[in-house]
Amino acid sequence: MPAKIMCVDDSNTIRSLVKKTLVTAGFEFVEAENGQDALDNLSADIELFIVDVNMPVMGGYEFVENLKKQAEYKTKPVVFLTTESSADKKEKGKSLGINGWIVKPFEPASFLKVIDMLVG
Ligand SMILES: [Mg+2]
Repeated sequence: MPAKIMCVDDSNTIRSLVKKTLVTAGFEFVEAENGQDALDNLSADIELFIVDVNMPVMGGYEFVENLKKQAEYKTKPVVFLTTESSADKKEKGKSLGINGWIVKPFEPASFLKVIDMLVG
């Protein structure tokens, strides 16, 4: 069974790009528009989360905080995909226990390398 990956991003364009990249590589893809939408649509078979930092309603940090409070999801890998690249933002991500940080725009091959490392 191919790994199911959830992309949480308020940008339609980014979600489509991520979808195309992941589906082409054989992954199963689900999506959410913001952290709250993602929390409302969690399913235990999701193996990895690709998460934007800046989103309306609920941003990436708050989403991950909520996700890590749930026993079922505590150990699932999370990668941030964001335009942010400052050291303090990354530090905050690290303190939340995230597994990777990819800066937009992403390059499909190196993006997939990170994903494969975490769910391969
Ligand atoms: Mg955004």
